[in-house]
Amino acid sequence: MNNLKKDKLNKIINHARLYGFIYNSSEIYNGIKGVYDYGPYGVEMKNNIKLFWWEYMVRYRDNIVGIDTSILMNKNVWKSSGHYNNFNEYFIKKDTKIYKLEKFLILILNKIKPRYKKNIKKKFIKLLNLKKEKKIKKKLNKILKKHNLFNNFRIKKITLMFKTKINTLKNKSFTYLRPETAQGIFINLKNVINSTRMKIPFGIAQIGKSFRNEIITKEFIFRTKEFEQMEMQFFVYPGEENFWYKYWLRSRLIWHKFFKLGKQYYKIKTHKKLSHYTTYASDIEFKYINKFKELEGIHFRKDFDLKNHQKYSKKKLTIYDLKNKKEYYPYVIETSLGLDRVFYSILCKSIIIEKKRIFFKLPKFIAPIKIAILPLIKINNQIVNISKKIFDDLKYQFNIVYDDKHSIGKRYRIQDAIGTPFCVTIDKTSILNETVTIRNRDDMKQIRCKIDSLYNFFKKEFDISFFFKKYIKNV
Ligand code: ATP
Repeated sequence: MNNLKKDKLNKIINHARLYGFIYNSSEIYNGIKGVYDYGPYGVEMKNNIKLFWWEYMVRYRDNIVGIDTSILMNKNVWKSSGHYNNFNEYFIKKDTKIYKLEKFLILILNKIKPRYKKNIKKKFIKLLNLKKEKKIKKKLNKILKKHNLFNNFRIKKITLMFKTKINTLKNKSFTYLRPETAQGIFINLKNVINSTRMKIPFGIAQIGKSFRNEIITKEFIFRTKEFEQMEMQFFVYPGEENFWYKYWLRSRLIWHKFFKLGKQYYKIKTHKKLSHYTTYASDIEFKYINKFKELEGIHFRKDFDLKNHQKYSKKKLTIYDLKNKKEYYPYVIETSLGLDRVFYSILCKSIIIEKKRIFFKLPKFIAPIKIAILPLIKINNQIVNISKKIFDDLKYQFNIVYDDKHSIGKRYRIQDAIGTPFCVTIDKTSILNETVTIRNRDDMKQIRCKIDSLYNFFKKEFDISFFFKKYIKNV
């Protein structure tokens, strides 16, 4: 990342911290790497994003239901899901630098003479599927030696799951903090079908915390050890997966673009190296500070998870097909999004640095505070009464604040900084003709408006039901 980009990232981090969006976790103890806390405005914005996702994915569809499963599960869940054996990452230490194995291989590839490149690339793909550090090191060393490249490096395998003890008075056991929310959905498939009578094709969605022992956590909240996922598993008849895969890729992209951060910042990348559970997959990538990186994954998981859970739990997870009169495993299309990554994508494109102010030009519908009510003169009883009445009338519909501290200029700056789209000021004219001014965050222009039309004005500004009506067609 060049200095300009680093400077932008620092501005985002500082602004987010100063104005109550995101703090370092355990700050008074010098923090903990790769873990963050969301402040008063951060949590409001996070909740707004969650609600937007939930409404789009669950509430307004008749073929998806929600669930909220536990973070701690029986450790056998992770053996069956393949995480126990496969959810590792390999790191290379060369001199003072640490690289992910894949990145290191790209580095080597760039040093190899063009005529050998194709062949070496093939070897590297095979190497990435090896499980033992020693084997990887041996193969890699052989290639490096043949091509007269360095060979003084160390390799280390890191398990990405956090192990945690479960003690009782009698004995000790252990499990893992979940590294993805998806497994809670798979192991509850039969419960959900039995209690809701949902029929294939249908989906189960959930929002919840996941934990991964990430080693390289450099870019703010892009990659953290504790994060929140918004995942949906869509169960389909085998053979219909292509239709649904394309459907969900398209639908998820539409959702992202509604933030209006700029269409040019989104890109689809089809996976080359697949994780242990995917048959094919695409990422929706976003250009955060300097380059395109993963925002959301759309994965075709086939019947990998259900098959394994049935095999190891010995509980039937197949579905009876009435038409063909046989049991089958539904195939799964997964949409998997990190809430913190959406949050970060919005911060990256919303920060506006002007001569006199730095502010978050947040999409209005997810701004933490929607409207600030600002009486111009706080010692005038009539102005205060009008202001309080407006506040009371609007507070049940919108998340709003009442602020009579400091000069009006300072109050505007504070609201701009936290991304409040509108400020309502009440002045002496308000007493005379029952009007107030509405100030727009983005261009700072003010309009005068009748007090009794405020509700309709704001309702129109924050209403996004047209989006759901346009894009959610129950298929
Ligand atoms: P990456 O390649 O960035 O490590 P991944 O392919 O391992 O991501 P998945 O396992 O597919 O990610 O997880 C689904 C989604 O969860 C990702 O698209 C991302 O939005 C989010 N996510 C994964 N790991 C993290 C993390 N450490 N911090 C924040 N969000 C994460």
